[in-house]
Amino acid sequence: MHIMSACLAGCHCRYDGKAVQEDHQDLLKKGEAIPACPEQLGGLSTPRNPAEIVGGDGFDVLDGKARVMDNQGNDVTEQFIAGAQQALRLAKKAGVTKAILKENSPSCGSTYLYDGSFTGKKVKGMGVTAALFARNGIEVSSEHSL
Ligand code: SF4
Repeated sequence: MHIMSACLAGCHCRYDGKAVQEDHQDLLKKGEAIPACPEQLGGLSTPRNPAEIVGGDGFDVLDGKARVMDNQGNDVTEQFIAGAQQALRLAKKAGVTKAILKENSPSCGSTYLYDGSFTGKKVKGMGVTAALFARNGIEVSSEHSL
């Protein structure tokens, strides 16, 4: 079983209230994936301010060494960690072994993240949920692997 970023499965849960344009719903239709949006699970509203990890990657956030900030200067670290934990809970209950997560997201990015400057620059790294999944033995990849 897979868990997949809900915005890849047609849910309008992105920060801007939209879904991802491309159709990635095959796994869902075959009953091989469950969708989840960690940021919504963490209690954030939709739409919401865009957020980026400042001072590290998702592992650093989990370890208390970096923060997640929105573009208005609000610290949303607590919600991002809570959402990752809720998503992990769901994954464990569903027997998930693989995650297909939206690249570049501060929650779901598996290879690249925005660098925290809100200027569009990317750096290598995993988002908060991707990092928590990886630490718990779930194989993480992006929509590009589909
Ligand atoms: Fe939610 Fe992840 Fe999609 Fe962001 S990338 S909208 S956190 S599922």
